[in-house]
Amino acid sequence: MRGAVLHAPGDIRVEERPDPIIEHPTDAIIRLSATCICGSDLWPYRGEFDGQPAPMGHEYCGIVEAVGADVTSIRAGQFVIGSFFASDNTCEICRSGYQSSCVHREPLGAIGTQAEYARIPLADGTLVATPEVPDPSLIPSFLAASDVLGTGWFGAVAAEVGPGKTIVVVGDGAVGLHGVLAASQLGAERIIVMSRHETRQKLALDYGATDVVEERADEGAARIKDLTNGLGAHSTIEAVGTRESMMQAVGATRPGGHIGYVGVTHGELPGQDLFFSHTHLHGGPAPVRRFLPDLIERISTGAIDPGKVFDLTLPLADAAEGYRAMDERRAIKTLLTV
Ligand SMILES: [Zn+2]
Repeated sequence: MRGAVLHAPGDIRVEERPDPIIEHPTDAIIRLSATCICGSDLWPYRGEFDGQPAPMGHEYCGIVEAVGADVTSIRAGQFVIGSFFASDNTCEICRSGYQSSCVHREPLGAIGTQAEYARIPLADGTLVATPEVPDPSLIPSFLAASDVLGTGWFGAVAAEVGPGKTIVVVGDGAVGLHGVLAASQLGAERIIVMSRHETRQKLALDYGATDVVEERADEGAARIKDLTNGLGAHSTIEAVGTRESMMQAVGATRPGGHIGYVGVTHGELPGQDLFFSHTHLHGGPAPVRRFLPDLIERISTGAIDPGKVFDLTLPLADAAEGYRAMDERRAIKTLLTV
C-alpha cells in the first residue's frame, strides 16, 4: 500500500509501505476513506525528529476490511471512526472516561494512518461504527471527529463550559475552532476567540463565536479583562501548547475559573504565576473515544458540520504539499483523499 513517511524535517514522501495484517486477534484492518494532517504532525516536520523514518498520521475513518478472531462488535463492511489512541474501553481508566490513558492504550501515530490501509488495535474498544455507510459528503465531518473535533470538545468539557458562562478560546487552529463549536453546542453565553487571521475569525464566528480579540499575550489577557468587568473568563480553552499561549489562557481566566488545555505543552510554565492565578487546570491528550458516539450523532443529524475546517483537499500522493501548506499557514487543515 501507499503511505506517508517522514524521512527528515520537511521531507515527507508517499511511498510503498507493507500492507497491514491482523497481528492480534483484537485487531481490525480498515481501508481509509480519508485521512488528514494534524497540527501536531508539524512538530516532527519542523524538527522534533529522532532520525528514524516514521510513518505519519493518526486521524482516520474508513471501511472495515477484516477483523481478528476476538473482535465481536465490529465487522467487515462497517464505516468506522476511531481516535488517535487505541483503547480497550473496558479498563477502570476507560470507564472513568479517560480512554486516551487506557492501561492498554496504543498510539495510532506509530501505525501511521496517512495511508491506504491501517491496522487498528483493540478494535472493539477503539472503533465506533456509524449506523450505515454515510453519504460521502459527511466523510470530512466524521474524519474531524477522529481528533480535532473530539479534542476541541474535550477542551470545552475540561474547561467546564456551560450555559451562562463566558468562554475564551486561545488558538485559532482546527482544535481551537472546534473548541468554539463545542462551547456553542454546550450552551455557552459568550465565546471570545483570540485570532488575528481573517479566514479563521470567519469560521470561528460561523461556529458560534460572539467576539474576536486580536491582541496577544499580556495585551490579549488585558483585553479579555476589559470585556469581562475586569474579572476574566469563566472558562478558557487553550489549544496551542506554547508557554505564551498557556500564560495568555491563565491571564484571561478569572480566579476560580477553569482552563481546558489540549495543545501539547511545550516549554516550562512559571509555577508562581500558576499558583497565584487560582485557576483550575485540566487537560492532556483528549479522550476522544468518550465523545465519539455523541459527536457521530450530532454529525449524522446535521447539528454540526465540523468538516468545514478542511480548507485544502489533496490526494494522499500530494501529502508533502499538504504539510507545506499547513506549515506556512496557507491551510487550516488538509484532508487527504485515499
Ligand atoms: Zn482501557
